[in-house]
Amino acid sequence: MEKIQCQGCGVVIQTTDKEKIGYTPPSALEKETVLCQRCFRLKHYNETQDVPMTDDDFLKMVSSISDSKGLIVHIIDIFDVNGSLIKSLPRITGDNPIILVGNKLDLLPKSTSENKLIQWLKKEAKEAGIKVQDVFLISSMKKTGIDELKQKIEDYRNGKDVYIVGTTNVGKSTFINALIKESTGYSDVITTSYFPGTTLGFIQIPLDEHSSLIDTPGIVNKQQMAHYLSPEDLKIITPRKEIKSRVYQLNNQQTLFFGGLARLDFIKGERQSFICYFSNELEIHRTKVEKADALYEKHNGELLSPPNEDSLKILPPLTQHSFKLSGGKTDIVFPGLGWVTVTGDETTVIAYSPKDVAVSVRNSLI
Ligand code: GDP
Repeated sequence: MEKIQCQGCGVVIQTTDKEKIGYTPPSALEKETVLCQRCFRLKHYNETQDVPMTDDDFLKMVSSISDSKGLIVHIIDIFDVNGSLIKSLPRITGDNPIILVGNKLDLLPKSTSENKLIQWLKKEAKEAGIKVQDVFLISSMKKTGIDELKQKIEDYRNGKDVYIVGTTNVGKSTFINALIKESTGYSDVITTSYFPGTTLGFIQIPLDEHSSLIDTPGIVNKQQMAHYLSPEDLKIITPRKEIKSRVYQLNNQQTLFFGGLARLDFIKGERQSFICYFSNELEIHRTKVEKADALYEKHNGELLSPPNEDSLKILPPLTQHSFKLSGGKTDIVFPGLGWVTVTGDETTVIAYSPKDVAVSVRNSLI
């Protein structure tokens, strides 16, 4: 077949794999203007769509950014910071300035300290080797913080292009749609942003005569819990509204299971409260440490669910991390799921999570 390029973004059109970049249904080839499905949806529904790709594909695709000048806006999910921070970002973006945007603020309990959250995001970015100019918190869904961010992007971009980067599921599409609606007023975005010869599969939305907002495809990250779950399970673990805490008074040698996706053993310490912040639909089970292994063996995927059958096929085994906590309230963070605030001093816990989805601790946000 002769190579056909999408007239929106320039990617080479293919008709065989729906999940891959450049897909368009065979029937669409008859049309006068051939668009890939992603551009088609943006044009007709003002909706952007992610194309799952491997880290390598992504790196190849976006490494061109390091040769261009522009502002990088890195969107992350504040529920899955570890899974959504792109650790290779500095390599991809060269010397371009980066601002970090934590999305899904609406899901956090009202009592969360935004200041502490920002400090924590700064620390995580720094530890990942990503130098950020600034950090913002937004909710793309509720449109919180979008106006202020828009203004800051204008200030920081200095007349240059803006690249929006993020892993899948962080809300990048929702964010871009919110921006398009509020700022450009274009209804026919693709046609007006037709850049001949672009073969990158980026979607470009004009900001002014000389520069554009560039949507890069979402990257799939192995450290994302979402990567290992069926769509049904993803629905269950993804909170849809502000999460409510669930409090357990535990004696040591007791265990909490978060479905069958994560587990927390209280090994040493005084009786205390464990405050759990997870999707309200994710069931929490309490048992004794001595019985926990047997319970998991027997009931993972049934009483302990998610995972459902489909997720079980792809979910890596649970691995454990031991934490000795002393002084002050501490959050044990299960990336992509939620966290547990431990209130007592001198406490030892063992946290279990699927391999690659690493548990971490932070000073409590609340
Ligand atoms: P993308 O893969 O990064 O483009 O992410 P999407 O925009 O498709 O969003 C992924 C999921 O997160 C969807 O279920 C969205 O409804 C949800 N989502 C996106 N932004 C927000 C937000 O600000 N708050 C909440 N609660 N959910 C959001």
